[in-house]
Formats: sequence, C-alpha cells, structure tokens
Amino acid sequence: GDVATGTELAVVGAGPGGYVAAIRAAQLGVDTTLIEKDELGGTCLNVGCIPSKALIHATNVGYEADTAEEMGIHADVKVDMEQMVDWKDGVVDQLTSGVEKLCKANGVNIVHGRAEFAGENRLRVAHGGEGQGSETIEFEQCVVATGSRPIEIPGFAYDDDPVLDSTQLLALEQVPRSLVVVGGGYIGMELSTILAKMGCDVTVVEMMDDILPGYEEDVKRVVRKRAEELGVDFYFGQAAKGWERADDAGIVVTTENEDGEESTFDAEKAFVAVGRQPVLDTLNLDAAGLEPNEQGRLETDHTGETNVDGIFAIGDVAPGPQLAHKASKEGQVVAEVVAGEPAAMDYQAVPAAVFTDPEIATVGLTQAEAEEEGFTPAVGKFPFSASGRALTTNDHEGFVRIVADGDSGFILGAQIVGPEASELIAELGLAVEMGATLEDIAATIHTHPTLSEGVMEAAEHALGHAIHTL
Ligand code: FAD
Repeated sequence: GDVATGTELAVVGAGPGGYVAAIRAAQLGVDTTLIEKDELGGTCLNVGCIPSKALIHATNVGYEADTAEEMGIHADVKVDMEQMVDWKDGVVDQLTSGVEKLCKANGVNIVHGRAEFAGENRLRVAHGGEGQGSETIEFEQCVVATGSRPIEIPGFAYDDDPVLDSTQLLALEQVPRSLVVVGGGYIGMELSTILAKMGCDVTVVEMMDDILPGYEEDVKRVVRKRAEELGVDFYFGQAAKGWERADDAGIVVTTENEDGEESTFDAEKAFVAVGRQPVLDTLNLDAAGLEPNEQGRLETDHTGETNVDGIFAIGDVAPGPQLAHKASKEGQVVAEVVAGEPAAMDYQAVPAAVFTDPEIATVGLTQAEAEEEGFTPAVGKFPFSASGRALTTNDHEGFVRIVADGDSGFILGAQIVGPEASELIAELGLAVEMGATLEDIAATIHTHPTLSEGVMEAAEHALGHAIHTL
C-alpha cells in the first residue's frame, strides 16, 4: 500500500554526493531522508573509483614483481582473477557498509527504493520487488543526487555479451585475450593500462586526435608513450560504427574516419567508454517544475539550488566535472545551505586525477588558461628523472609543473604526471585554496627523499633558483 511520510530534507541517490549531503545535513540537525534504489555508495563505491583503483593496485603489485629483474627480483607471478575480483568486492562491501553505519549513526533515515517526483514537494518511492508497495514522501527541501550512467552509442548495446561498459569490465573474472576499447578518456585509459599489464592485447580507437581530452600535450605524451610500451595500440580519428561476430568466437569492430573510410579491428570483446550521462530521465522532473539544460544537467546557482526553490542538484547531475570529490563537496555545501548556514561552492581548486601509469593529477589553471585570464604566469617545472626518491622506486617518468602569477607569486594551478601524482596534487590544491605563493612552497621544508620534494623544486624553479634542475 501507499504510505505517506514527511521529512525536512529528501536526498535522492546515495553516491558520494548524496550520502555526504545527508550526513552533513543530519549533523546540522536537519531531519533527513536518504533514498537509494541500489547499494549505498553509488557509482563511486560500487562500480567506479573504488573497484577500479583496487584492480589497478592489485594488477600493479603483480606486474611490478614480474618486471623487477633489474632490481634482482626474479618472480613467477600467477594471477588468480577470480580471487582478485573477490578481494576487490570485499573492499567495496567494507566501504558500503561503512557508509550505512555512518548514515545511521548520524540519524539519517534510509529508504530503499526508486524515487520520482510527484509534485514540487513530493516524491513517490517504489520499493524494490513485487508487492512491496510504494510510499509518498513529502519534503520541505530536496537534493537531486542521482549520478550518471555510461553513455551507450548506436551499434554497441551493453546487453550484448561481447560489448562491455565499465561496470561489466570491472566484474570480469577472466582477462580477455584481446579487447577493443572505444574511447581514450580517463576511464578507457585507466582500464586499458591494467588490462595490458594482465596480458590482454588492447587496441584503443578514439574519435578525437588524442587521448584524454582537456589535458596538455606534454602531460598526455608521458601516459601515451608508457601505454604504447605496454603494448596498447592507438587509432585516432576513428568513430566506432558497429561490430559483428567473427568465426573464432571473437568479434570485428568497424570504425570510420572523417573521410568515411572504414577500418576493422578484431578482438574477443569490446569495451565502450565514451563518457557518462546524467540520470535524470527516470525522475519525472516535470512534476517538480525541473528541466535539464542542453547538456542534460540541472543548472544550479552558487549554493547548488536549481531554478525551483528548495530543490538542489549536486554531483554528476549538476554542471562541472564528473568527479566524486566534487560531488561530495557540493553535498556538504547544499547541506549547510539547507540548514540555513552561509555556504557556497568554490570551484577554483577542484583537483582531478587519472590513475594511469604513470598517474596524472591537476588542479587550478594551466599556463594557457592563466594567460587567457590575463595573468603573466611564472612557471616552474621539475622532472622526476632528477628526483632521488623516484630513482629509488625505479619510476621516474614525468614532471611537476606549477603555474603562478608572475607578479604576486600566488599559485594558480599545477599539473603533475608521474608516480603518486594523485597524492602529490593535494599540497597544490591547498596552495590554490589558501592563496599560497611560490615562496611559501619553496620555504616549506619537504622530507627527503620523497616525491614531494619535486613540488618544492618546481616552486624554486619558477622563482629562478632551483637546486636540482637547470
Ligand atoms: P553516483 O555515484 O552515480 O550515485 C548516484 C546514486 O543515485 C546511485 O547509487 C543510483 O543508484 C542512485 N539513483 C539514481 N536514480 C535514482 C532514483 N530514481 N531513486 C533512488 N536512487 C537513485 N571519480 C573520481 O573522483 N575519481 C575516480 O578515480 C573515479 N573513477 C571512476 C571510475 C569509473 C570506472 C567510473 C564509472 C567512475 C569514476 N569516477 C571517479 C566518477 C565518480 O564515480 C562519479 O563522479 C561519482 O560517483 C558521482 O557521484 P554522484 O553522487 O553524483 O552520483
């Protein structure tokens, strides 16, 4: 039957946006209901960030042991994929049950079911399974945090067995002999890298003329070169058109270049990673007076509020980069706004990381962006080949680059490609957020021998007095 309940705040979707919003709101004394149709933790914990990083790490443990002859390590590595996937699933379970405990401990009311709007102040939630009924939840304010799903392109339906999306790829219990990866974005590149390390013959076909759109050429080059060394083949300017079964239980993927010339690629499976689209079509947005913009997202103001009073949107359904930490920060901000606190989003220092080999991490402005904004940037660079620490780990490709305002020395941004880039970027995120200068970073004593010394050296380089680089 239909049960009616009321709540001050309804949060739809329990990914890193929604569950963080719910916990923060409850902490601030708001009566909060969190509605989730699947598992708590959303894409990030269940089929995104966490499982991908677990598999990347596990693969690297094996791969590094297997390729350390130079260091006198002669290992005979055997990979049990089924066990690796079990271990990864265990990590995911631990984190999702942690989210549930945190929600409960903070007094968040969790409702399992699929929500849709039934009015400006009302959601209808269908509980899973037959005969489990539905309930109507009246809310004073609402946060839409329903995330995103993989985009499906014509000719490549995900329910056809040899065609995989990232969720299906992360659940494979056997490494395919060969794989055509459609799309050289960050998800395609992260997973291509580990599959190549596991012995899969990987071919990336990309419509644009390079991998990783949005990143600078010298940053991408390091990752592309390493991927090629691992045996990944790249074909650019190729739009995937369709696939057919081949005689040998494999498939043939057809692509087309801009002149309409076709090429074919043989493989066991195809992995399509061409981006993710917001999940808004199932929400009956009309009923609440909401409408997605041309990019299919819900426009928001600096507090995360949509054009409808009291309805907020965060994470992958809102504008901006589709990243878990961006979703979570927006979740905190809207919770504070809902609770009546003064809060607003600040997008100056949203870091982004790509967990390829080596990693890429960026924050703030590039040199070109700084110039466009009218700065005369001071730029410093430090190559990891000059880092003692990088040499001791036998992992010394790449560099740290810092972009600062040439007049004031304020750090505007940074780009790192190299070992532990995803960790190293944190210091530079803090620098951008707090308005630190090159002098601040250069004056900070960094532990020796660590990769973080590279950040200090890049700042010194920008100031014209680097010690370990010319
Ligand atoms: P989601 O995490 O997508 O959560 C939305 C939730 O809403 C889901 O649980 C969904 O079931 C639920 N929902 C949807 N509709 C309804 C409904 N009608 N009723 C009830 N519930 C509903 N980001 C990073 O920052 N770092 C990474 O390393 C990274 N790696 C990634 C790797 C992969 C393979 C993928 C796919 C993504 C990765 N991402 C990464 C992106 C990251 O996962 C997303 O940006 C993030 O999860 C977005 O959070 P969200 O809260 O907006 O939505």
